[in-house]
Formats: sequence, C-alpha cells, structure tokens
Amino acid sequence: MRKDRRKFVKQMASLGLLGLAAAGGIYGARYLRDDELKLRPPGAVPEEDFTALCIKCGQCLQVCPYDSILLEDIDGLDGVGTAYIDPFRRGCYLCRLFPCILACPSGALDHEQADIKRVHMGMAVVVNEPACLALYNKPVPDSAIDRIYDHTTVLTEEERRSRRVQHLPGESEKRQLQVDLLLKLERYRGKQCRICVDLCPYEEPEEAIGLVAKGEGLVPEIRHECVGCGACVELCPTQVLNIIPRATYEEVYGTRKG
Ligand code: SF4
Ligand code: SF4
Ligand code: SF4
Repeated sequence: MRKDRRKFVKQMASLGLLGLAAAGGIYGARYLRDDELKLRPPGAVPEEDFTALCIKCGQCLQVCPYDSILLEDIDGLDGVGTAYIDPFRRGCYLCRLFPCILACPSGALDHEQADIKRVHMGMAVVVNEPACLALYNKPVPDSAIDRIYDHTTVLTEEERRSRRVQHLPGESEKRQLQVDLLLKLERYRGKQCRICVDLCPYEEPEEAIGLVAKGEGLVPEIRHECVGCGACVELCPTQVLNIIPRATYEEVYGTRKG
C-alpha cells in the first residue's frame, strides 16, 4: 500500500470518519474536498510517481470528451499543469477506450490500465445522508438539472439559457456524449431521485452503488466495484456523496458484504 494513501486513510480513521462512512453517515458534504490528495484521471500511477511523471502537457485534457480533467493552477500543491479531476465540477464517465490514458505520453497514466477492470481512482463515500432526496421522496428540483447544463462547454448560449438541447445531424461525438447525459438527466426533473444509481457509468452499476431502504425512503449504498469515478458526486443534486481518492473498498468499508 502506498505511503500517502495509508497516511490519508489513517487520518480519516483517526477522525472516526471511515467507520461513519461505512454506516453511511459522514456529515458535512465539503469535508473531504480540501484534503491534500486529489482525484487523478483514470490509470494514474501511484501518487508520488504520478506527480513526478506528469509532464503537464494537457494531452489527457485535450481528448476528454466530457471535459472532466483539469490542470492545477498556480495555487496547486503539485505544480502548475498537473492533471486532476474535481468531482463536484465534473466526474469522469469511464469512456470505454480511456482516451485520456492512451493520450498520456509520459507514463503518468499507465496504458496497461486502459481497461475498466483495471481502473481504480478511489472510493465513493456517503458524506451527507440526511440531504438525500430519496430519503424523503422529494422530487429533483430544476436547479439541480440546470447546474449540470452549466458544466458543459458544448452548448450554445441559447441552449444554455433555454435548457433545451437536441441531437443535430453531424454533431461532434463530444457534443453527442454531453447532450446524451443531459437528456438522461432531464428524465429526473421533478421526479423521484435515483440519479446516482441510474447514471453511474460503471458497466454493472448495481455492483458499484445501490439505493437501500431507510425509514420511509431510500439512501445510497456504495458497493465493492465502485471505481471512484466521481460521476455520482457531480450529478447528485444535494452533494450527498464524495470520493476518497485512491482508497479501496476494504480501506473504507472493511470486508466485502455478501
Ligand atoms: S475516461 Fe473519458 S471521461 Fe474519464 S477522464 Fe478519461 S477521457 Fe475523460
Ligand atoms: S458509485 Fe459509480 S458513479 Fe459513483 S464513483 Fe463509484 S463507479 Fe463512479
Ligand atoms: S443522487 Fe442519489 S444520493 Fe443524491 S439525492 Fe439522488 S438518490 Fe440521493
């Protein structure tokens, strides 16, 4: 196990947060955001090697159709231009061929890991269960869907304003993918929320996340196959979820259930 991950998970454990996460109850949605460990793009080699190998070329960012990858700015701890993902802004959608990994020229993203069965970015945790809309059977507010429209870079001003998108002949693959996501989200406007579960991009999402009964409602349960892509963190209307970068299921939740 790597030193930095061990340190982070130990720090979380000392605060009693891992046990609470396992029980679905780390409260305070933004708690984990400022930690030193950032979520890296899929395929990232261990953190110390990653920060040494990333040559800040931005190739991964250029090919990402979802605009998921950001580059650290002058305030970043790992040097201007180091690649990371902020799941509250935009998660990774686990593209089938992992173009980001294949584009990386330096080995910071390991080409051997360009396969969903080998990718592991971190582990989702429930950080604010009382905010979950499914717990109280509350409908998804318009503002939650509209927020995702604001993330996209492929819409025209008019589409952004009217919040209406449609597929046009000949549109780019990047636009198609982002519009597809928005059209899927539209189904939840004013309806019962199951966004985190239904839009998890893992190939067998029920093995990564589920909704389980609690009281009169439902709450998310993170499962063993979660790869920490952060899509659920981005899309959740009420910031119920977060990612612990590089953590494994066992580190966060103990032994596998079932
Ligand atoms: S897998 Fe796709 S969505 Fe995720 S960071 Fe790579 S290119 Fe972007
Ligand atoms: S539950 Fe699904 S969407 Fe959320 S981080 Fe895990 S794999 Fe990604
Ligand atoms: S996305 Fe999931 S966690 Fe967030 S409010 Fe909806 S059901 Fe709850």
